[in-house]
Amino acid sequence: MTPDGLFEHTPETLAALLRERGQPPFRAKQILEWVYQKGAETYDGMSNLPQTLRQALAETLPVYRSAVSARQASSDGTVKLLLTWDDGATSECVMIPDGDRRTACISTQVGCPVKCVFCASGIGGLQRQLTRGQIVEQAMRVRAVCEPDARLSNVVFMGLGEPLANYEATVAAVRAINAAWGMEIGARKITISTVGVPKGIRRLAEEQLQITLAISLHAPNDELRRRIIPWAEAIGIDELVDAANVYFRSTGREVTLEYILLGGVNDQAEHAKELAVVARRMRSNVNLIRYNPVEGLPYQRPAAEDAERFQAILRREGVNTHMRRSRGLDIDAACGQLRRREASSGTVMLTARSEAGGS
Ligand code: SF4
Repeated sequence: MTPDGLFEHTPETLAALLRERGQPPFRAKQILEWVYQKGAETYDGMSNLPQTLRQALAETLPVYRSAVSARQASSDGTVKLLLTWDDGATSECVMIPDGDRRTACISTQVGCPVKCVFCASGIGGLQRQLTRGQIVEQAMRVRAVCEPDARLSNVVFMGLGEPLANYEATVAAVRAINAAWGMEIGARKITISTVGVPKGIRRLAEEQLQITLAISLHAPNDELRRRIIPWAEAIGIDELVDAANVYFRSTGREVTLEYILLGGVNDQAEHAKELAVVARRMRSNVNLIRYNPVEGLPYQRPAAEDAERFQAILRREGVNTHMRRSRGLDIDAACGQLRRREASSGTVMLTARSEAGGS
């Protein structure tokens, strides 16, 4: 695997690297401007850099390290990319358009250790961590598929993996995505979604970042939660509530509770009432998502009326709640589906259907 890539660097580390090669430190600023502001994908067109330096950097510090090995576009404008890294590992990232907003959904690990029972990615388990540069690179790849007149506005760490189980790389990537020298996405437009690692949440609270924290709760009590998220066996909801309250006190940012509605499993009236009690114990809002069925898994998407009834109970109980629209239903939209299908077919999928879908 290539040892280094441009997205692994901050202005300081890049300047230090260039200094070792006898280059003035201002070259770091020039290179980062080309890549982050002007969208250069290689060193070829960096006209204010000496030709010999461009060539040397192309050989030792590639800008992009991934190949886009599949692309699917949905009729609703959602675009999903499968990136293949130089060690053969793959990552999924998605561009989700919504009005003026363009959101990148990116991954923090290859595979996922959490193994939520309803999720395609859980099946294969964790393969390896992604580096900070590989996390940033996904956001840049997604930025590049936004329409020419649209700007990437939001980044959510909701793809494959548990961000807080890859803490340093995740936070470093957040900083690059947020930085004036980097992607310049406002901290409030960045969301880290975690299954809930209380220690990680407390640590994140001290980072002085104004990012949104989303906790994937998916169940209103420990017993059901442990069945749905086996990895969370040792993490009680009480502990999560405490950590979420620390996060709010330190950042002033309300916490989002993600709740995926699985038909007949966690979508009953009693679950809504129990969930309301949990939600009211912290400054939070609840994001409801109707499950996208995954081939080979026994879970069902609840009927729209059942989901609405669930939401109405939460509202009656004084909980601020939204129903997230499912996007990209005509492509392999839920996390892990494209990767899984690729792995089982062993082919690169760029089908007429997926291409036509985006037009
Ligand atoms: S839903 Fe998210 S946390 Fe759960 S297994 Fe899938 S990728 Fe991992």
